[in-house]
Amino acid sequence: MDRGINTRCLHLEEEEGKVENFGAISYPIYQTATYAHPGVGQSTGYDYSRLQNPTREHLEKIVASLEDGIDALAFSTGMAAISLLMELFQPGDHLIVDSDLYGGSIRLFDNVSKKNGITFSNVDCHKDNVEAYITEHTKAIYIETPTNPMMNVTDIEALSKIAKRHSILLIVDNTFLSPYFQNPLKLGADVVVHSGTKYLGGHNDTLAGFLVTNREDLSERFRFLIKTTGSGLAPFDSWLILRGIKTLGIRMEKSAANALAIAKWLKEQSSVTEVIYPGFKEHPGYEIMKRQAKGFGAMITFKVKSKEFALSILEKVKMIKFAESLGGVETLITYPTTQTHADVPEEIRERNGITACTLRVSVGIEDVEDLLNELKTVFAETEAELNK
Ligand SMILES: *Cc1c(COP(=O)(O)O)cnc(C)c1O
Repeated sequence: MDRGINTRCLHLEEEEGKVENFGAISYPIYQTATYAHPGVGQSTGYDYSRLQNPTREHLEKIVASLEDGIDALAFSTGMAAISLLMELFQPGDHLIVDSDLYGGSIRLFDNVSKKNGITFSNVDCHKDNVEAYITEHTKAIYIETPTNPMMNVTDIEALSKIAKRHSILLIVDNTFLSPYFQNPLKLGADVVVHSGTKYLGGHNDTLAGFLVTNREDLSERFRFLIKTTGSGLAPFDSWLILRGIKTLGIRMEKSAANALAIAKWLKEQSSVTEVIYPGFKEHPGYEIMKRQAKGFGAMITFKVKSKEFALSILEKVKMIKFAESLGGVETLITYPTTQTHADVPEEIRERNGITACTLRVSVGIEDVEDLLNELKTVFAETEAELNK
């Protein structure tokens, strides 16, 4: 029987029963660039750390097991992972990409991939007829679900059927839910992307990225590309992400529970005009999320009544930090318009509903009463100031 995901965050079955690494419980950091060969034509399995390093490999095997992939590759950042992924494609290839994506991915596609002759259609994959955009040049569909920051939910299984019918790849950036809550490969995706900087690492202290696949041909191609382009994760950072993953389950549970409580509180505030959280029954993606994910995550997007109100919240928060990024133990609040999505063309931003009144919260694992108390203070002070 398959082991539970909390166990898989800690233990790699294939390495059990061996007495390697002096029995160290914490996997050692192999801080080495190169490896001695036992003899001519022989190798310990490791030749040079750009190709592979035991600490990175251990991490990759854990992440592959969490996502039910046959292979995972660890990169220096999430963007390094996505950049390498784009090397699968040739000039003339066409990709369908969701119109509401992480801003850095849009920046990469618009400013780097396009220059390399790859063309894109921005599609609202949660509601548009995706199949209508497929041409003979289309090679892949690239989505996030829920999306960042508008929390649109796409049915991964339904989309994977379309991708399979046309023999194109389905790529899912699974950063927002982490493998603890959602496993796109099981739902028919071919490649899963992670910014390991977020929930996998979980402590706002390390950058990392992953590509996970269940296809031999893609694994082989990715291995060739990582060796060639050299964006693999360093040994020490691999160890930090390994340590973070050990507590993935309890962090996800706690931050998702906190998020639900905060989303409910936000909804009751007269100064809040909209709360977008897929854990609410009225969210259009709620039923799909219930089917394809094990939890609703800890990201909340909300809109307040004015730009001044939004800016005042950002000025006044103290324990909650006004900062980019997400998925760590500390609660962060972000202003997508000028931070994560500043490089997204304004008309796309507006069409997606990201306005000057939109805020995004990545809920951490603090005591929820303390988070609510801080929000109550910040909101009350803002009300008083703006009504003066
Ligand atoms: C942060 C993020 C990325 C990029 O990852 P980095 O580790 O910052 O390079 C990609 N996708 C999503 C959804 C993200 O949140």
